[in-house]
Amino acid sequence: MKTAKNYFRGCLLGGACGDAMGYPVETMDWNQIRSEYGAHGITKLPINEERNEALFSDDTQMNIMTVDGLLWADKKAKERGIYAYTSSLFYCYQKWLYTQTGRFADKNYNFLLGGEILENKELFARRTPDKVNISTLEGCINGKYGTMKRPLNQNPGTGAVMRAAPVGLYFYNDPKMAFRIGAESAAITHGHPDAYLPAGFLACLIAQLVRGKDLESAVVRALDELETWPEHENTRDLIEKARSLAAQMNRSGNILSVNELEMANRIDLAAIGSGETGSELIALSIYCALRYSDNFEQAILLAVNQGGNSDTVAAVCGAILGTYLGMDEIPYAWVNKIECSILLVHGADKLLESVM
Ligand SMILES: [Mg+2]
Repeated sequence: MKTAKNYFRGCLLGGACGDAMGYPVETMDWNQIRSEYGAHGITKLPINEERNEALFSDDTQMNIMTVDGLLWADKKAKERGIYAYTSSLFYCYQKWLYTQTGRFADKNYNFLLGGEILENKELFARRTPDKVNISTLEGCINGKYGTMKRPLNQNPGTGAVMRAAPVGLYFYNDPKMAFRIGAESAAITHGHPDAYLPAGFLACLIAQLVRGKDLESAVVRALDELETWPEHENTRDLIEKARSLAAQMNRSGNILSVNELEMANRIDLAAIGSGETGSELIALSIYCALRYSDNFEQAILLAVNQGGNSDTVAAVCGAILGTYLGMDEIPYAWVNKIECSILLVHGADKLLESVM
């Protein structure tokens, strides 16, 4: 049954499962994936033998920090009436920087060491962390971080979109606000509209899905909001392309066939791009989600078996469909093996409690 709890957990676990599926092939193109894993590409959740768990990458590590930042901001808002969502998120991304490099950008942030989230040693694993996130966060001294008005760079990369989905959960009652805070949280590290607008779009889309919209209508509503922002054209055009390509699909059944995978790689996915910019990433994720909107597993298999940025496309697609379909539609074999599953479930539940 779809309940708010099921949506919230589905978002975080769905994103983590997509990330863990795509992480081993994130740098491979489709030909390399095929020669390594066979004609169907990667089909099983990769399990780390030593840990007997599936390992996720920086995408999910940062989503966990986004949840932490939102809960912290929520507490400040309720206790002291201080609304500081973006700065709380910035400090939590500094905590992420600490997990990856062993230091904050500035000694003044050492007070963050008391944060409970840093007790989770699994989060200190380095799994090809996004370079722009590392270098930009390292430069943020004296509490200064990037904003849309005062960007720190003009980077259109994907490292900000991948951590925006929980913003949509927290602000599900106000999709417009979800867009704004999603975009602001992205601009902390990524100053190009092709990076921060897709993050706003994703948060707004997640909010619409929690409100019970079907996937297609949620995409349309989030597009309406996107169009109110300056410099939205590239992101809008790519999402529209993904929508029309997904609508033209010639789906043969419920299971992704080798033929379909070949066609999708050669024609549709190639037409959208490689997923190296935020705009391409959101469009590829939406294409995969719309194409298999009733089947979480097949959508993720399509997302990971493509030539682009597999872990991030699958992580974003997983967050979208996990929210839309709910946790119960994610294969149990995946949820059962994903690392830090208790942390993810608790994070989702705490976020839900904070907005009830
Ligand atoms: Mg990654």
